Amino acid sequence: TSFAELNLAEPIQKALGEEGYITPTPIQAGSIPYLLDGRDLLGLAQTGTGKTAAFALPILDYLLREKKAPARKGVRALILAPTRELVSQIGQNCASYARHTKLSHAVIFGGVGQGRQVEAMRKGVDILVAAPGRLLDLIGQGHIDLSGLEVLVLDEADRMLDMGFVRDIRKIMTFLPEKRQTVLFSATMPPSIHDLAHSLLKDPATVQV
Ligand code: AMP
Repeated sequence: TSFAELNLAEPIQKALGEEGYITPTPIQAGSIPYLLDGRDLLGLAQTGTGKTAAFALPILDYLLREKKAPARKGVRALILAPTRELVSQIGQNCASYARHTKLSHAVIFGGVGQGRQVEAMRKGVDILVAAPGRLLDLIGQGHIDLSGLEVLVLDEADRMLDMGFVRDIRKIMTFLPEKRQTVLFSATMPPSIHDLAHSLLKDPATVQV
């Protein structure tokens, strides 16, 4: 497979060309067609396999193709990740792949003041990359509307559970609409991840590398 064969929207293909991406990695070749089809997905992949682009590129493509429904408001895609470092890195990748689009993104994590994060939300955000704890704080304060969410990604889900975020994740789910696309990436598949995947994903495709 080449990126050209995946038929991603033109501005995305342009950014990938500039990044020097020519061939999709196995997790990308396996996942992207399902995600472009709107399927839920369980991806088993380690860091370094290209999993960030595997979920980010279909999100961008979807947001460019599908006009925001008038009834939907707030954030359109939410990517949850365990740490500040990972959230920042995913945010940087999204910015790079979206550089030729008008899609906006913001990153949210704890350990820093929340002023700039709140300000970014106020301007309107299509893609939000967030660590669970700070996200819940800002939802609780009324700064984030997830009621119109269209796509949810849980990245490094096993690490989020190891770090004790399961209750935060369950709480966050209560703010999301039922009708959405859900993607879960994990490096390992312990019973706790199996249960989480089972409760969040609907008829998921599974891709393992
Ligand atoms: P990740 O596993 O998502 O952290 O990605 C690992 C690294 O591989 C990152 O630096 C990406 O920019 C890079 N990368 C991801 N996909 C590709 C690709 N198809 N071609 C070249 N580099 C890639």
